[in-house]
Amino acid sequence: MSDTVLEQTTSLQSPRTTVKRLAKRAAYDRNTINAILDEALICHVGFVVDGAPVVIPTIHTRVGDTLYFHGSAASRMLRSLREDVDACVTVTILDGLVMARSAFHHSMNYRSVVVLGKGREVVDRDEKLRVLDALVEHVCAGRSRDVRPPNEAELRQTLVLAIPLAEASAKIRTGPPIDDEDDYALPIWAGIIPLSLTPAAPIDDERLVAGVATPEYAARYKR
Ligand SMILES: Cc1cc2nc3c(=O)[nH]c(=O)nc-3n(C[C@H](O)[C@H](O)[C@H](O)COP(=O)(O)OP(=O)(O)OC[C@H]3O[C@@H](n4cnc5c(N)ncnc54)[C@H](O)[C@@H]3O)c2cc1C
Repeated sequence: MSDTVLEQTTSLQSPRTTVKRLAKRAAYDRNTINAILDEALICHVGFVVDGAPVVIPTIHTRVGDTLYFHGSAASRMLRSLREDVDACVTVTILDGLVMARSAFHHSMNYRSVVVLGKGREVVDRDEKLRVLDALVEHVCAGRSRDVRPPNEAELRQTLVLAIPLAEASAKIRTGPPIDDEDDYALPIWAGIIPLSLTPAAPIDDERLVAGVATPEYAARYKR
């Protein structure tokens, strides 16, 4: 087995990342976890500051086995996490509303990931530049080729943080509602309302230089 294949099949399960309820919906392999991280546009980063928990929504990107975040060098989240502080990062992709016959069995179809780990500040200039590119690509594949890259002042103002993808879990619910057997005879509508992120037509910026065409990746944006 090649190293790449081995890496893709590694389990990220640990006692802390073991799903307890409905454990059959859990997955711990890199392929499943990476696919969810790559599709989700944003994540939520949880950590403890001054003894109290805080959860901050932000943009992430994955490069290999590392999850990255960036932001202002003044960001409390990024400043706190560079000091070897424990973090819990979650992403959720909502795929549908599950409408059962009983209120109790209503649910949602989703793909979610929880990553546990400690942050490290990215200080290597090349790694930092690669991550900033990857963040743009994460949001819109193809975009990094077109943009002006960060200048020295922008690089100084930006803090980039890395969390290893070593301890994580995914949980996935698919399929129809699961009602109590007796309830299937009730004349109540049940089923799924599928949900997905759908882009509308791009809107040109008012100050666009005349003649600049909308690129394909914007006109046909999809996750
Ligand atoms: C959109 C959405 C809606 C949900 N609605 C509800 C709800 O209304 N009520 C409810 O009880 N649960 C809901 N869940 C499921 C919820 O996220 C937990 O899985 C659930 O609370 C059971 O956690 P636990 O006690 O098994 O695990 P815990 O003991 O809480 O967690 C142990 C470990 O399991 C892993 N884990 C737990 N949940 C997830 C997850 N969702 N994704 C990835 N890893 C996970 C983590 O690594 C965590 O560290 C929802 C999930 C999603 C994504």
